[in-house]
Amino acid sequence: MIDHALVEALTQIVGERHVRTAGAERATYAKDGLTVHRRLPAVVVLPGSRDEVIAVVRLLAVHGVPFVPRGAGTGLSGGALADQDAVLLVLTRLNRILKVDPRNRVATVEPGVVNVKLSVAAAPHGLLYAPDPSSQSACTIGGNVAENAGGPHCLKYGVTATHVLALEVVLADGQVIQLGSPGGEAWGPDLVGLFVGSEGNFGVATRITVRLLPVPRAVRTLLADFPALRTAGEAVSAVIASGIVPAALEMMDHSCIQAVEDSVYAAGYPRDAAAVLLVELDGRVDDSVAADAASVEAILKDHGARSVRTAVDARERERLWQGRKKAFGAMGRLSRDLVVQDAVVPRSSLPDVLEAIGRIGERYGLTVSNVFHAGDGNLHPNISFDGRIPGLRARVDAASGEMMAACIVAGGTITGEHGIGLDKLRYMPLIFDGDSLTAMRGVRRVFDPAERVNPGKVVPVHACREWAGVRNAEFQARNAEVGTRSASRGDGVSSSALRVPSSAVGS
Ligand SMILES: Cc1cc2nc3c(=O)[nH]c(=O)nc-3n(C[C@H](O)[C@H](O)[C@H](O)COP(=O)(O)OP(=O)(O)OC[C@H]3O[C@@H](n4cnc5c(N)ncnc54)[C@H](O)[C@@H]3O)c2cc1C
Repeated sequence: MIDHALVEALTQIVGERHVRTAGAERATYAKDGLTVHRRLPAVVVLPGSRDEVIAVVRLLAVHGVPFVPRGAGTGLSGGALADQDAVLLVLTRLNRILKVDPRNRVATVEPGVVNVKLSVAAAPHGLLYAPDPSSQSACTIGGNVAENAGGPHCLKYGVTATHVLALEVVLADGQVIQLGSPGGEAWGPDLVGLFVGSEGNFGVATRITVRLLPVPRAVRTLLADFPALRTAGEAVSAVIASGIVPAALEMMDHSCIQAVEDSVYAAGYPRDAAAVLLVELDGRVDDSVAADAASVEAILKDHGARSVRTAVDARERERLWQGRKKAFGAMGRLSRDLVVQDAVVPRSSLPDVLEAIGRIGERYGLTVSNVFHAGDGNLHPNISFDGRIPGLRARVDAASGEMMAACIVAGGTITGEHGIGLDKLRYMPLIFDGDSLTAMRGVRRVFDPAERVNPGKVVPVHACREWAGVRNAEFQARNAEVGTRSASRGDGVSSSALRVPSSAVGS
């Protein structure tokens, strides 16, 4: 599909070292963090500057060739994969922090800057970059913008969208546009907000201006140990209902605790707990943080915590957090393959939904571990399996679909932070009708009329067409059923109201 002359022209722009055409080299980029999806790109190009990005995108526009922007490839929805007819545009060489401005508490970065490096650069000024995905030591800020990434501390500080002030974007035709205002409130509609979370469908972010926040002076980190998953879920609701907003409120279940404690990331979590909650409170005044921590501790104990431990120093706090942030890696040791789902439910539904997920896992005979941003109601059931066992992948797929349906029935939605990518295309028609999907596609076409940037992701094109023929009345009737079930929830959550189409992906 990509002829020799085009490869030669790409080489002229970025240099021979930065164009990868050999099969083994391309295979390095065939997956992201959700390794059940695989796509081999035609060519991998690694531009070294914004000008090189623009030149590459303009060249591809002339030839009508599709392309996919990619950061570190830690995404968990198959979003950064390119097909055999497309160029993969890897942005990790654009890794300069262009400006840290402590007086205005802003920074401007290139998209390939690794998330944690910005906080490291801002630390001497007493500042940090708040969104802290658990992958923050690897993922890029460009990828965070495209996914509207969250993280443990986004409960109090807000997800990526809250922190992005301005963007420079290279559109599919090579035009360069500026969105937002680095200096403050932007005029007009929130185009930065529109771009953040667009999953590489609207163009390539080449410069990103973000807010920085002061490093909190006072911090308390609590680890609460629960004998039952349900009571841990109820405790989450109770903390949120109290009006205290923790900086972070994370949950890990028994299976996840075992995986962490068996790994090099062992954090001293109680092995016999059905679940632990990791709760952090922070602020500027020690006394008020201490008072909030005492109130939270009392709530946790009132709701069944067997014990609540407070980290005595920064070292212990770091250890507790390392266990949480590396939990996904630790679970990777449980089995050859791992799929992680990402859904959001109302926090009050957490106990029911967690039980429903457990039942689904049992019914399919699968190992399911939960580690998630409980304070946001953002669930991540992880299924460990060995894809070489005949039929197992299909079971995992079916169980994942039922878990998603259970979250939707509970009044939730299909992604909190990992995006739709390839993986969740099949769920989109469960929450959006044909008209809405068509409108979303229309918005994308404003930026990219030929749909050449990251094609085949986010909006299921088939569903747009098919659903145009399905009466919206049918959709509304089903939504009404979901609403009724969600309102009358009491005997647990049932996902039988929704039929999830079998996965068309996963190849
Ligand atoms: C162990 C682990 C823990 C994780 N924890 C979290 C978490 O706590 N919270 C969370 O939100 N996510 C988490 N993730 C998911 C992932 O790290 C995030 O989605 C992250 O934002 C992806 O960044 P990336 O640089 O790896 O992007 P990639 O995976 O390379 O790309 C992701 C998407 O962004 C697009 N893209 C990348 N760069 C650009 C650009 N410059 N312009 C336009 N589009 C672009 C791609 O096309 C793709 O659609 C985790 C992943 C792992 C493996």
